[in-house]
Amino acid sequence: MLDLAGIVDNSTIDYPGKISAVIYLCGCDFRCPFCHNREVVLNDPMVCKKAEVDEIVEEINNNFLIEGVVITGGEPLMQADTVELIIKLKGVKKLKLDTNASFPNVLEKVIGMLDFVAIDVKAPYDKYGLAIGTSNFSEIVKNVQRSMVILKSSDVSKEARTTIVPGINDSEEDMVQMCDIVKSGGFEMYSLQQFRPANTLDPSYGDMKSPSVEIMRKLGQTAKKLLPTIKVRISTIEHGFEDVL
Ligand code: SF4
Repeated sequence: MLDLAGIVDNSTIDYPGKISAVIYLCGCDFRCPFCHNREVVLNDPMVCKKAEVDEIVEEINNNFLIEGVVITGGEPLMQADTVELIIKLKGVKKLKLDTNASFPNVLEKVIGMLDFVAIDVKAPYDKYGLAIGTSNFSEIVKNVQRSMVILKSSDVSKEARTTIVPGINDSEEDMVQMCDIVKSGGFEMYSLQQFRPANTLDPSYGDMKSPSVEIMRKLGQTAKKLLPTIKVRISTIEHGFEDVL
């Protein structure tokens, strides 16, 4: 049984290059103040309902238009039955997992069944607590570091992602340190997305401005300089997706 917020049938943006169904699983061990999935993270009963793994698998199998499936959240690896879901979906469609990297033991179990993994790099490790809303983050950082080691030794396709949030991770020094984390995971792609002040977990972030396009482009250029062999991409409200060359 899984806590499920819903399934989006035909997404063109969640799995690179593929039309996919997106499964939103509820609950998260992080409390990122800038998160805009408040109801999903807090397992709000108005949004999250219990669903059998087999029900979800059947709905996916009946969707003949999709080439891929994305399992996202919240934090999908927090729920025990996510492993069963992955086992039952593997090989049927291309399978992508979005995770915050804090469950390395589970990641290790499932990584061989996945085609694509997208991992959050929240902030430089010494600022992780600020980014995920807790002062008690040393164990979490160790878990994220273990996930990076697991990823590096896997040949699954991998993308690292960072939401750029003013005051948390928007300086050049922050980007230098986050690029070190990206290197440690052996990623093929690094995506920087602009924070958007909508439906934030911490309501005070609703009054904060998004980082400017100029800041996003500058950070993207810094990342590209430090990670010349991987694809670096930024996304902004103003211009959508831009590859950094
Ligand atoms: S942004 Fe943070 S709180 Fe929101 S789902 Fe991702 S890890 Fe959880």
